[in-house]
Amino acid sequence: MFDKILIANRGEIALRVIRACREMGIASVAVHSTADSDAMHVRMADESICIGPASSTDSYLNKAAIISACEITGAQAVHPGYGFLSENEAFAQALEDHDITFIGPSAEHIRIMGDKITAKETAKALGIPVVPGSDGGVASFEDAIGVAEGIGFPVIIKATAGGGGRGMKVAKNAKELEIAFRTARSEAKAAFGNDEVYIEKYLQKPRHIEIQVFGDGKGNAVHLGERDCSLQRRHQKVFEEAPGPAITPELRAKIGKICADAVAKINYIGAGTVEFLYEDGEFFFIEMNTRLQVEHPVTEAIFGVDLVREQIRVAAGLGMSFTQDDLEINGHAIEVRINAEKLPNFSPCPGKVRTFHAPGGLGVRMDSALYGGYSIPPYYDSLIGKLIVHGRDRPEALARLRRALGELVIDGIDTTIPLFHALLAEPDVQNGEYNIHWLEKWLDAQFGKH
Ligand code: ADP
Repeated sequence: MFDKILIANRGEIALRVIRACREMGIASVAVHSTADSDAMHVRMADESICIGPASSTDSYLNKAAIISACEITGAQAVHPGYGFLSENEAFAQALEDHDITFIGPSAEHIRIMGDKITAKETAKALGIPVVPGSDGGVASFEDAIGVAEGIGFPVIIKATAGGGGRGMKVAKNAKELEIAFRTARSEAKAAFGNDEVYIEKYLQKPRHIEIQVFGDGKGNAVHLGERDCSLQRRHQKVFEEAPGPAITPELRAKIGKICADAVAKINYIGAGTVEFLYEDGEFFFIEMNTRLQVEHPVTEAIFGVDLVREQIRVAAGLGMSFTQDDLEINGHAIEVRINAEKLPNFSPCPGKVRTFHAPGGLGVRMDSALYGGYSIPPYYDSLIGKLIVHGRDRPEALARLRRALGELVIDGIDTTIPLFHALLAEPDVQNGEYNIHWLEKWLDAQFGKH
């Protein structure tokens, strides 16, 4: 087992990893930018080291500085968290070249799942059902029309190198396709430095269902059921739950096995998420994330496992501490993402937090790096906390979420807390009757086109 792990991240996820390290008796090293010297992860880690200026390109994305930090502190492994370098093939490779363990899959697995077209082809070859669409990239408008007419409108144009919900355009007919195709390409070029796009059938009322998988790198893999992350704004998740209200045990067992078998076949190591759109009893693969997800705590709650501990174990060459038969669902869990944003436009709202009071009590988990007097820097993601509740069943989890949100106090800045109070009053949310378009429609109805 490692003696010391460096965490190449910040915020709540850095704390999450430090906590797992501490429980395992492993020393932790925090890295930080100059803007983050007062951040909680710096205070909580055993050691900390400054890796550059505020801009993430020069700090949290600075591979050379992070590798130097490992050499200086003697860290034997790096946990990348999510975002930043967590799905960066070159980073995983550079660590390997320096004999430092990357706590995550191999550079090769990151590569095949990182590019969305290769990911779809790999998924297909591994027996995972995919969304109908173009075979690979679409280079010209004539080809785009051909594909769209073949699968039928509406279609969605996506950037091969896309991510974070960006670079997607929907077209309902040929005329819209002409404009959407051109803008998607130029936006993809500007955002990702690669103008390749591909086309998929645009599903009208799907749910976003993702399967948590875990492999030991030696041909064994399990699944830990699904998370329903359909409540999204601009393709970004805001509310996640497990198990999914629409998923039966039979469906779970079937799609879970397909995913676990697929990752076992490629000797996948560590945590991964296979994302699907689910409509009328059918699953359609959209992408695989080769890392820990923001919403992993809902899965931890219902299965009673520590996924970060497990990631560290397999990275150290130990096996998983559970088999598929050990994994049983217990109750229901919900996570809401608390962002430093001002409603109704969700404009980022960094600034000084006067008071922070985290809710507590049975079945409540608050993952946040806030503290009273902390100034949220304007340079990074607006996620400032995740509130996770666990109950014996969905109604209990909802009641607990309402109660915990009432206890949560974040003063001095605007946050998305009021959004969740409002959502919990909605019968559709109470009944679990929503799809990926529900939240946008609801926001339009509440606030007009926002
Ligand atoms: P990203 O990597 O940018 O997050 P994804 O491919 O994971 O992109 O898609 C993000 C979200 O976009 C999905 O959860 C869903 O809401 C929407 N989406 C993606 N593909 C489709 C599709 N074929 N039909 C309808 N909605 C889609």
